[in-house]
Amino acid sequence: MDRLECANGKLKTPCTNMGSMSSFPMNVSVEYAITALEREMRQPNPREVALSEAHGLILARDLHALVDHPSLSDSALDGIACRVADTLGASSQNPVTLEVIGEVQAGRVFSGRLREGQAVRIYTGAPVPDGADGIVPVEVLEFVEGNSGTTVKVFQGARASDIRARGSDFERGQVGLTRGTRLSSSALALCAAMGHARVEVFRPLCIALLSTGDEIYEPGEPLPPGGVYNSNRYGLEAKIRSLGHEAVVLPRSVDTREALELALSSAGNVDLLLTSGGVSMGKFDLVRDLLIEHGEVKFWKIALRPGGPAMLGRWNDLPVFGLPGNPVSSLVVFEIIVRSALYKLLERPDAPHRILKATASTAFGSVPNKRAYWRARLEFENGHPVVSDFVDQRSSVLRSMVENNALVVVQPGQKVETGDEVEVIWL
Ligand code: AMP
Ligand code: MG
Repeated sequence: MDRLECANGKLKTPCTNMGSMSSFPMNVSVEYAITALEREMRQPNPREVALSEAHGLILARDLHALVDHPSLSDSALDGIACRVADTLGASSQNPVTLEVIGEVQAGRVFSGRLREGQAVRIYTGAPVPDGADGIVPVEVLEFVEGNSGTTVKVFQGARASDIRARGSDFERGQVGLTRGTRLSSSALALCAAMGHARVEVFRPLCIALLSTGDEIYEPGEPLPPGGVYNSNRYGLEAKIRSLGHEAVVLPRSVDTREALELALSSAGNVDLLLTSGGVSMGKFDLVRDLLIEHGEVKFWKIALRPGGPAMLGRWNDLPVFGLPGNPVSSLVVFEIIVRSALYKLLERPDAPHRILKATASTAFGSVPNKRAYWRARLEFENGHPVVSDFVDQRSSVLRSMVENNALVVVQPGQKVETGDEVEVIWL
């Protein structure tokens, strides 16, 4: 199998090293892999939930404001409402005196109209009386009680900018949040301000996780010689949950056809089955063999490092994404491919990654025909982003994912020398 022949991700390449003759794309590009995974999945149906149940869920419809906000032009301050023209030139030496004709608090509407030389006491959030076009804060006022009523000495000109115009935050009918938005605390507050007690959201995706390998044991179990604790399960489970989706952890499977067939078939009614391990070139990489022989393969291998052996297929009706077993590979491929595909599937308007340009403080190599995602340390020196290489880039070194906070993206053939600008994904 010639890797170069199928590096563009578009060719349907006969795969002849499997014993049987199969046909699926190999060494697909990162973008191809993301789109292919998204297409294999079904967008979940929308459902309506109460606002208090919606935190972290994803809006399934554009959300329009049901009201203007503010609903009437109101005051941003405690003070008086008056006419700007009446207080022009007012200062600490030259106060202007106005007649106080009443007051208005938040939630009430002043009846009557303010005329030349008059003021109405006003409190934050109270509608501005008709006839007023400015506000003076209470800090520069002196109220004087007299026999014929109250007057106020004004030591500063009234400002129109302290009136919050009706609909200045949003107007009735305006789209305040778009479909695909993940409902953060601020977004929830905006839903409420727009008048929505319930919202339509996508049901969270249900993603099953299957760890494979004779050598895999759960932390807490005694580890026999040659055993490896199941780190992928925990890292991936947390990634799924942090995206707002549900993870269903299946019991890990040993590397036999029988056990793996049973495990693949046991995933049940989920949106996606993520496997880890068993998709590489070895004799015991049986997830790959089973998908090729008894399932369906959409692609095998992605032109990236780490994580090249990843695979997409179907088992019966279920989309299966096979992550490589190496701990760093599984986490990086989840970040680059799975996260991006899930964002696309749910039409999220935000980018799946924080991407920035940084100055390389070390050199970064490239990999022939593959896009490299090197683990790196991103720091800010006098506000300027600088990245340095992590020395041990082997995909088994899990420490490298914890001690670093970024992936430096290096295209095939790209030469990155110290001092060059590089693209960085800030994890
Ligand atoms: P595989 O992709 O099955 O060939 O596995 C590649 C490497 O990843 C091997 O060294 C495995 O022991 C290791 N590995 C596979 N699955 C896991 C897992 N769930 N947790 C930690 N390491 C794993
Ligand atoms: Mg294995």
